[in-house]
Amino acid sequence: MKSEIISVGTELLLGQIVNTNAKYISLKLSTIGIDVFFQTNVGDNPKRLKECLEIAVKRSDIIILTGGLGPTMDDLTKETVAEFFDLPLIEDTDSKLSIENYFNKSNRKMTANNYKQALFPEGSKILPNEIGTAPGCIFKKNSKIIIILPGPPSELIPMFDNYVYPYLKNMSDKIIVSKVIKIFGIGESKVEDMVNDLLISSNPTVAPLISDGIVTLRITAKSDNKEEAENMIAKIEEKIKDVIGDYIFGSDDETMEYVIFNLLRERNLTLTTAESCTGGLLSKMITDIPGSSEIFKYGFVTYSNEAKHKMLGVSKQTLEKYGAVSIETAKEMAVNAKEIANADYGVSITGIAGPDGGTEKKPVGLVYIGLSYNNEFYVRKTLTMGVRQRIRLISALNAMDMIRR
Ligand code: ATP
Ligand code: MG
Repeated sequence: MKSEIISVGTELLLGQIVNTNAKYISLKLSTIGIDVFFQTNVGDNPKRLKECLEIAVKRSDIIILTGGLGPTMDDLTKETVAEFFDLPLIEDTDSKLSIENYFNKSNRKMTANNYKQALFPEGSKILPNEIGTAPGCIFKKNSKIIIILPGPPSELIPMFDNYVYPYLKNMSDKIIVSKVIKIFGIGESKVEDMVNDLLISSNPTVAPLISDGIVTLRITAKSDNKEEAENMIAKIEEKIKDVIGDYIFGSDDETMEYVIFNLLRERNLTLTTAESCTGGLLSKMITDIPGSSEIFKYGFVTYSNEAKHKMLGVSKQTLEKYGAVSIETAKEMAVNAKEIANADYGVSITGIAGPDGGTEKKPVGLVYIGLSYNNEFYVRKTLTMGVRQRIRLISALNAMDMIRR
């Protein structure tokens, strides 16, 4: 089944709003094996909308239109679609009543043009709108399925979920299962290179994506039955694990902080943080998780040398001799924080997040991450490219990644 989405609305073309409707629908369709091959934005203009329909009927089985169902003059989607498919607009009595009801309830006067919202291309199945006054509709013409939904996401989302999704899901004869593998510590191109032979497979498909320093591989399998689809995924997952190994930290919705939280909670261990250039980001990420008080007692934000000395007891000699951005400082930060907080793990982050402050020896992006555990100390020297925000995020992720390993 090939589908496409036509989003109608001049405000989309003017850049005033983002097409979240298309994103939402595409994501949902991908979970039921309906391919979305095109997304089009077109203004509130009948001639240009017809041009889009002209192309759409040639290449898609399902055409989903969003927007332009309002009562005003510029809302012309249904009229234009009906004309294009040579169908008369017929009044739906239930829709008319519910629109009248809507106005009575909100004590507003219904205007003549609201009645046009009860008109639909002949043969339509009506999709009720419980939030607003514009119902949607589905009809079939020349073996094409046409679906029309209102523009406001607060109306479109429940209508899509309640009527369109079940309708399309029933039509799809395949079961789709997918799983996301999450990877940290190697770049996207390296990951692609390592799993190169898997990327060309068409069922299951393996699709890489990078976002916020984390590479994900989404495996999607189509089959007649769920068990077989799951087996197909498991096989590919094994192959991925063989080559990527320990860089994999989780799957599906698991975040790095959640993985760390679970790991420490299971082992009944606690963590304290000593952060310089991340300014508390690591503590924030961990304490975003409900229940994190089980594993996180407190953290130190020691941005200046003075703070490192006063709050964590990093020695003045160390700071003077090696500087704040050094293995030695990272070590004293982590070891002392662990001691003061009486935690099992002490983790420290000290580096140069930029954009200023870099030197030839210590460039922007250089960050030392220290980990004190039992009587051992580990350090990771990282050099991250990019803007301040990215350097800080990758550093916090690196700190958690060290705990995980
Ligand atoms: P209304 O009855 O509100 O006029 P409508 O079905 O005619 O509804 P539009 O006029 O096209 O829909 O859009 C109404 C509002 O819905 C827009 O101003 C915008 O806020 C939101 N909207 C429309 N299309 C989209 C879209 N594709 N993605 C996100 N929001 C959208
Ligand atoms: Mg409108």
